[in-house]
Amino acid sequence: MNPEFKKLLRQVVGTENVLDAPEDLVCYGFDATRISAMPQAVVFPFSTSQVAEIVKLACRHQVPLVARGAGSGLSGGAVPEKGGLVLSFARMNRILEIDTKNLTVLVEPGVVTADLHAAVEAKGLFYPPDPASMEFCTIGGNIAENAGGMRAVKYGVTGDYVLGLEAVLPDGRIIRSGSRCVKDVVGYDLTPLLVGCEGTLAVITRALLRLLPLPEAKKTMTATFADLNQAADTVAGIIASRILPTTLEFLDKHSIRAVEKYLGLGLPMDAGAFLLIEVDGQMGGIDATMEKAAAVCRKNKALEVAVASEAGEQERLWKARRSVSAALRQISPFKINEDIVVPRARIPAMVRRIEEIAGRHQLQIVCFGHAGDGNIHVNIMADRQELESARVECAVADLFQATVELGGRISGEHGIGISKRPYIVANLDATTLELMRSLKRLLDPCNILNPGKIFPGQDEIPDNAGPGVVWP
Ligand SMILES: Cc1cc2nc3c(=O)[nH]c(=O)nc-3n(C[C@H](O)[C@H](O)[C@H](O)COP(=O)(O)OP(=O)(O)OC[C@H]3O[C@@H](n4cnc5c(N)ncnc54)[C@H](O)[C@@H]3O)c2cc1C
Repeated sequence: MNPEFKKLLRQVVGTENVLDAPEDLVCYGFDATRISAMPQAVVFPFSTSQVAEIVKLACRHQVPLVARGAGSGLSGGAVPEKGGLVLSFARMNRILEIDTKNLTVLVEPGVVTADLHAAVEAKGLFYPPDPASMEFCTIGGNIAENAGGMRAVKYGVTGDYVLGLEAVLPDGRIIRSGSRCVKDVVGYDLTPLLVGCEGTLAVITRALLRLLPLPEAKKTMTATFADLNQAADTVAGIIASRILPTTLEFLDKHSIRAVEKYLGLGLPMDAGAFLLIEVDGQMGGIDATMEKAAAVCRKNKALEVAVASEAGEQERLWKARRSVSAALRQISPFKINEDIVVPRARIPAMVRRIEEIAGRHQLQIVCFGHAGDGNIHVNIMADRQELESARVECAVADLFQATVELGGRISGEHGIGISKRPYIVANLDATTLELMRSLKRLLDPCNILNPGKIFPGQDEIPDNAGPGVVWP
């Protein structure tokens, strides 16, 4: 990186807000995938105008620029694969306004998701998206990945709550999309174009988010099963019965054991699968919904159905669910985590296909996740040496092939980034993919913002990348 460029950066944000010592840079080179690459500098802006100046400089000096929230992404999105500059939003983390009359909140992108929950809940309001990483991930990262969470089955994903954005384009110009209005059809709607763009089209500097009234009450229930197929049938049964739980999460037997060993929360170690079901709404209505869901569990031979009676008990169950990823990492630090999603009625078939794939390749595959959304986190528990072995690669290719054959998508919420880039062709036809590439070229002709992410080079696409598009 040209020393003149760093000098100019320091003039924009101050010397103390630019890092370039190797021991500092290493902390900004990876995300939760453990893919890593060293940036050449990290910059911490405080305002949109500083972000715009930085982006202009990067554009003029042809320096790749990667926006970074908390680095909790699970597809390599925040990894500075081509080196260059990491733009951290750690210091743009203010909640600017909670509008209790219009039910909106205006935030900077570095706000931690759980801090936003706490701030709006203190005013009796509710921001539903709750990724399991919410204690550390940021709103900017959530928007850039269109993150889901445990409540998506009832409330939808991050994009459903973004009313408007302020963003800096790759040449440094600032745009504003959307408004506080509930309805707005003025021109093309640019907000959804930026939601889920993985930091490749613009850098988000402010977000206007929609809020709901905080539900009056909630209840949490668990159901244990002898085997995973019964749990999967239950999930499909609950959805088909027109029951709308807030949360419908599942853990397979390996996840249950891993969490129990990790935290000792008293989970049933001998169970084959475990469902966590939560219902919220008005005090009077939730008991009936709970009872309907419990009936579907019993019909599918649940060994036990239990309602968590106290807040402490609910928190224990949530802690179990949120800790699965960390618990599995303790056992297999280099596990591969895919987040495939299928139409919800196909969950039982997908679970069976995953079991077949594990058997065929003699790999331990551990599943948990947002069953109510059809979104399964499939963890291939490979060790470090095995990561790039043909066996693991074939298992991943088989997994994506089965997903596509069942009408699913290779990522439900973690994005494409680096790790799923070779397989994007399994879901997108050539024309659609080329339109996406041309949008990137149009907005970012110099390829400054998060270059190389999402779109594979021709040599990167494996022969077994998948059967092509199956839609709808
Ligand atoms: C234990 C664990 C549990 C998780 N659970 C979930 C879950 O339930 N649901 C889910 O969806 N994900 C989950 N994730 C994945 C991850 O937390 C989400 O993708 C999250 O949205 C990433 O936020 P972040 O702030 O860490 O973003 P980062 O990892 O820093 O960045 C992610 C992407 O967003 C871009 N980006 C960040 N900020 C901006 C900005 N201001 N403007 C433009 N682009 C930007 C980056 O360039 C990158 O491409 C989990 C991860 C972990 C480790």
